[in-house]
Amino acid sequence: MRVVIAGAGIGGLSLALSLHAAGIDCVVHEAVAELKPLGVGINLLPHAVRELTELGLAQRIAEIAIPTQALVYANRFGQEIWREPRGRFAGYDWPQYSIHRGRLQMLLADAVRERLGPEAVVFGSRAGRERWGEDAGDVVVACDGIHSAIRAGLNPGEGPPIWNRRVLWRGVSEADPYLGGATMVMAGHQDQKFVCYPIDPAAAARGRSLINWIAELRFPEGPEWRREDWNRPGVLADFLPRFESWDFGWLDVPAVIRAAEQVFEYPMVDRDPLERWTAGRTTLLGDAAHPMYPIGSNGASQAILDARTLAFELATRASVEDALASYEAARRPATSAIVLANRGEGPERVMQLAHERAPEGFANVEEVLSREELEGVAGRYKQVAGFDRDALNARASLSVRT
Ligand SMILES: Cc1cc2nc3c(=O)[nH]c(=O)nc-3n(C[C@H](O)[C@H](O)[C@H](O)COP(=O)(O)OP(=O)(O)OC[C@H]3O[C@@H](n4cnc5c(N)ncnc54)[C@H](O)[C@@H]3O)c2cc1C
Repeated sequence: MRVVIAGAGIGGLSLALSLHAAGIDCVVHEAVAELKPLGVGINLLPHAVRELTELGLAQRIAEIAIPTQALVYANRFGQEIWREPRGRFAGYDWPQYSIHRGRLQMLLADAVRERLGPEAVVFGSRAGRERWGEDAGDVVVACDGIHSAIRAGLNPGEGPPIWNRRVLWRGVSEADPYLGGATMVMAGHQDQKFVCYPIDPAAAARGRSLINWIAELRFPEGPEWRREDWNRPGVLADFLPRFESWDFGWLDVPAVIRAAEQVFEYPMVDRDPLERWTAGRTTLLGDAAHPMYPIGSNGASQAILDARTLAFELATRASVEDALASYEAARRPATSAIVLANRGEGPERVMQLAHERAPEGFANVEEVLSREELEGVAGRYKQVAGFDRDALNARASLSVRT
C-alpha cells in the first residue's frame, strides 16, 4: 500500500511522519513551489503534543515553543473573570504549547525530509477536483486545507466557507512580558475581543515576550467580507480605533497592536460538518475534513490527531476499507462536535455573561458569575474537544509497534 497525501501543511506532514513510523509508504504533493514559515501563532493542546512526542519530536518543539501555563479570561477592562492552569500545570502528562505556525510547519517538514528522504514531498504539485492517485492500490488523503480541491470534488454543491460576520486581525509584537510571560489571555465579549499569548522562548531568554495577538470585531450587518486568505495583509485603521481605550494596566493593547511589523486579516469562517469523508480509497483530514473557527486552539491539534489515528488504523486493520471506515468513525463525529461547539462560543461564554451582567466592569467577579457557572462552562468545552485530562492521560498510545 502507498498513501498519496495532498498538502504539506501541519496535517499532511504529521500524516507522513505517522505513516512512516507505522511502516507505511507515502508521498506528499504540495501545491506551492517552496514552503515558507507563514502564519502567526497557534496553540498545540496536550493531546496533540502527546502525538508529536510519540513521533520523537518533543525536544525540537520545546526549543521553539512556550509551554502555556495559564489561560485567563478577562473583560474589556482587563479585569479577570476566570483563570485556569494549562498543560502540565493542569496535571496533563504533556504540555500545551504556544508556537509560531510557520516554524512548526518547517520543523515537521525537516523531520519528513530527514526520515523519509528528500523525494518525500513533491512541490508545485496541485491536487485537482477530479479523483487522482487511487490507481496502483493507493490511498489518497486530502490534507489540502480549508479550500480543499478534493473535498470540493467529492461535494460539488458545497460552495465557499461560511462567514459568521466576525473578522480577525492577527499579528506578532515584541513587548514586555505580562502575567508571568506564559499566559494566554482572552479579553472582551462577543462583539469585540482581544486574544494574546507569547510564542518565542528566545525572546523570553532576553527578558522580553514575542506576543501573538488576535483582535476580533463583529459586523452584525453590511457587505460580505473579502475572501479568507491566511496571508492577506490587514489595515490598522480598520480595527485599531475600536481598541484605543483597551489599556489594562498590565497590558497596553493598542501599543501591542502598533508594535507589530505586519498585520493579517482573516474573516472567521468554517464549514458545515459533512455526512461522510470517505469515497472509495479517498478520505479527508485536517481543515479539508473539518474547518473550524480558529478559537479554542483546535485547528492544528485536531489535524495532528487525525493523522495519528489514520496511520494507526491503516497499519492495524485487515483492509484499507476497514481502516478508512474506522478512521472516519473515530474522528468525524468528534471533530463535527468541535465545529459546532466553536459556533456556540465555547468557553468564551463566560466573557459574554460577564459583559452582559456588568458592562462597566466589576470589583469582584463572584458578584457577577458564580463559581459553578464558571467551572461548568470551562469543563464542558474540554470534554467536547477531547482534552479531558484524565481521559487523555489514561488513553492507549496510537503508536504502532513495527
Ligand atoms: C499559509 C497558511 C497560514 C496559516 N496561518 C494560520 C495562523 O496564523 N493561525 C491559525 O490558527 N491557522 C493558520 N493556518 C491554518 C492552520 O494551519 C490549520 O487550521 C491547521 O494547522 C490544520 O492544518 P491542515 O494541514 O489541515 O491545513 P493547512 O495548514 O491549511 O495546510 C494545507 C496545505 O495544503 C496545501 N494545498 C492547498 N491546496 C492544495 C492542493 N490543491 N493540492 C496540494 N496542496 C494543496 C497548502 O499550500 C498547505 O500547505 C494557516 C494555514 C496556511 C496554509
